[in-house]
Amino acid sequence: MNGSALASVLRQAGVSRVLQPGDSGADATLGVFDTSIVFTPDAIVAASSIADVEATVTAAQRESVPLLAVGTGHGLLGNVSEGIVLATRELASVTVDVDARTARVTAGATWTDVLDATTPHGLAGLCGSAPGVGVISYLLGGGLGPIAREYGFSADHVRSLEVVTPAHGALTVSAEQHPELFWALRGGKSGLGIVVAVTIDLLPITTLYGGGLYFAAEIVHDVLHAVVDWAPGLPEASTASIALLRLPPAPSLPEQLRGRSVAHVRYASTQDAAAAEAELAPIRRIATPLVDTTRSLPYSEIGTIHGDPSTPMPVMSGGLALQPLAAAHVDALLDAVGPDRDIPLSAIELRALGGALARPAAEPNAVGGRDAAWNLFVSAEPHGGTDPDDRRASVRTAIGAMSDVRGPVNLVNFVGKANDNAEVDACWSSDQARRLGTVRESADPLGILS
Ligand SMILES: Cc1cc2nc3c(=O)[nH]c(=O)nc-3n(C[C@H](O)[C@H](O)[C@H](O)COP(=O)(O)OP(=O)(O)OC[C@H]3O[C@@H](n4cnc5c(N)ncnc54)[C@H](O)[C@@H]3O)c2cc1C
Repeated sequence: MNGSALASVLRQAGVSRVLQPGDSGADATLGVFDTSIVFTPDAIVAASSIADVEATVTAAQRESVPLLAVGTGHGLLGNVSEGIVLATRELASVTVDVDARTARVTAGATWTDVLDATTPHGLAGLCGSAPGVGVISYLLGGGLGPIAREYGFSADHVRSLEVVTPAHGALTVSAEQHPELFWALRGGKSGLGIVVAVTIDLLPITTLYGGGLYFAAEIVHDVLHAVVDWAPGLPEASTASIALLRLPPAPSLPEQLRGRSVAHVRYASTQDAAAAEAELAPIRRIATPLVDTTRSLPYSEIGTIHGDPSTPMPVMSGGLALQPLAAAHVDALLDAVGPDRDIPLSAIELRALGGALARPAAEPNAVGGRDAAWNLFVSAEPHGGTDPDDRRASVRTAIGAMSDVRGPVNLVNFVGKANDNAEVDACWSSDQARRLGTVRESADPLGILS
């Protein structure tokens, strides 16, 4: 079906705003973080109500047309050249139930929206390292946040979801209602339905102790070895990671960091400052950091701990779950992509997992990779306009350096365009994948959702 025929089918189905690629307002409607994604679908729906979503899913199912929802566009794995793109940003809302300690978050909302709504009540949702990321897709993929070793995956704290499936229309799913779909949506990521809202637990957290220690390139070797020894042994109240960063000469960065290669140790703890500082002491003893942002901070400033990029950019990234790391693995990584290598990587991040992440959720779900000890995430931002093929190759170099120690199941939120198909497919154990396949077949028998 061509674009204008599809647009009229959608309008007849009751969809209020249908655009074509290139229409004025189409790019702003999508508003994706990853600016390298080219959108040439047959139609773009700018959903402004749940009724729009229902009408779109019904029409797509009836016409057997591919349908892709877009949140904030942090996790799209390729260009979109057919079917319907359903832009959800205009649906965004957050409603807090202070007594129940929950928030209902609709599609299109970001973790910043959640922080803004919950902070005045002294409550917190379990967001990721970058609060600009969309809530729904983050949760569909499990969700690994800066205090994850204490609370587990964010999806473990989802109470219910409101979803529109091609086969069954609008459903509210929870432990009691449609439990198999509830299991699948929390970690199964895609092919299950368009989620219009999610109700999440809020926690009475108002402050954290945490931040980042940035160390100079000359001591990256010592810092990386030390963090790999230290982070897995921290109590569950503390979560740490390290990123080897090649920073641009951006005026927005502190002068000591501009244009430099550094090791960035990130740390967040719900313990008090004295206990947290005692834990940080072995890392501080290595050397004086170039920049130190650790402090008691309001939970609403959680995004400053990792300091992830927030400005839209062409994304090229990849991830790999890892088993426990030995010194030889650290050396292999440094040898392949350390600061003295001329390679267009912007970040090589190792997040220590374990703790509550390794335990099943109270209400089991489809999150994969719980057994992993570390998550490797590699990203190649185009400082200096490097060619996408070179950037992809450089991400593959980092992933390849760790292939001996890869875990059996990857974390789906961290696989990216630089991952190969086998790595993307390995986001669930074979039992999980079989069970997810059955749920997907029931929810979307024509396979229109991508
Ligand atoms: C800078 C950065 C930092 C990040 N930090 C973390 C982190 O700390 N922890 C973590 O776990 N992940 C993290 N991620 C990964 C991120 O959680 C995922 O990429 C997530 O999918 C992004 O959500 P989005 O709204 O941008 O999804 P999009 O990129 O818009 O979409 C991704 C996929 O989700 C589907 N989707 C979107 N909305 C819906 C919906 N309403 N219903 C059904 N399907 C939908 C899309 O169809 C698509 O398949 C990070 C990513 C980036 C770029």
